Amino acid sequence: MEERAYRSGFISIIGRPNVGKSELLNKLLGRKLSIISDKPQTTRNKIIGIRNLTNSQMIFLDTPGIHSARSKLNRYMTRIALASYREVDIILFVVDDKIEVGDIDRYVLKRFKKIDTPVFLILNKIDLLGKKDISSITNLYKELYPFRDIITVSALTGENLDILLKKIDENLAPGPQYFPDDMLTDRPESFIVAELIREKVISFTKQEIPYSVAIIVESLEMKGGIMVIESVIYVEKGSQKGIIIGKGGKMLKKIGRDAREEIERLFGNRVYLNLWVKVRKDWRKDDKSLKEFGYY
Ligand code: GDP
Ligand code: MG
Repeated sequence: MEERAYRSGFISIIGRPNVGKSELLNKLLGRKLSIISDKPQTTRNKIIGIRNLTNSQMIFLDTPGIHSARSKLNRYMTRIALASYREVDIILFVVDDKIEVGDIDRYVLKRFKKIDTPVFLILNKIDLLGKKDISSITNLYKELYPFRDIITVSALTGENLDILLKKIDENLAPGPQYFPDDMLTDRPESFIVAELIREKVISFTKQEIPYSVAIIVESLEMKGGIMVIESVIYVEKGSQKGIIIGKGGKMLKKIGRDAREEIERLFGNRVYLNLWVKVRKDWRKDDKSLKEFGYY
């Protein structure tokens, strides 16, 4: 028997909010996932996870969204997004149980006709649908775009996810193994946790805050099946500390809750996250602090 050549490829997941992209991604990655969010790995796409099968590697990307082209900025963003979809090997276009096509879906599919990348239609949430509805929905979309394949799944129950993985695998081209088998081994869990917390701080705050925070995970241990994490958000000034804590501690609570939920999803464990905010005055100018916070 001839051995199949190693295959690899870059995959984008796109779809309206709430159709289940995050859930799907987490399930496709399985437990052995890695997050790489500190360095952009390709020109426009950020890697969010890698799945290794015995003879192939799937690299999932966070690709920019496509916006309806009302404003000049939206047109520009859409151009950038389309260019990034040209660079990937497979697009997973995800829809859910709604028996109607959204305007934005129509718009995106029209744009996709201008690129050659194969697009799979993924109908998610079939646990909520009967057979008849499943075919009504896929028929609606089939009329709009010549999908390479149509796969109906439930990210929640896991139904047909094995089929989806197999189809992706079959559509990968021979290519190199871009990343080592288990990225988690060279990126400790604490690093990933710190990155997730940082992401939440950045998404909820504005202006100078993103550049002024450093996240330190002081301890991370399993206690009775719960992942217990102690972490400090360092800022440069007292005023920044106030912003991150927020009125009555609201902001810090929000950051903590969102980060915890994401860490739980990622590691498949219950998480207890204790977050502190501390001021380390002008740490960015201080060599000792820079070293301590993982910058050289
Ligand atoms: P995203 O905004 O596209 O990333 O969507 P999420 O992954 O955050 O999912 C949105 C909501 O749909 C969440 O409440 C999920 O639990 C739910 N969801 C995702 N996949 C499924 C599915 O296959 N079946 C059901 N019933 N719910 C799902
Ligand atoms: Mg999401």
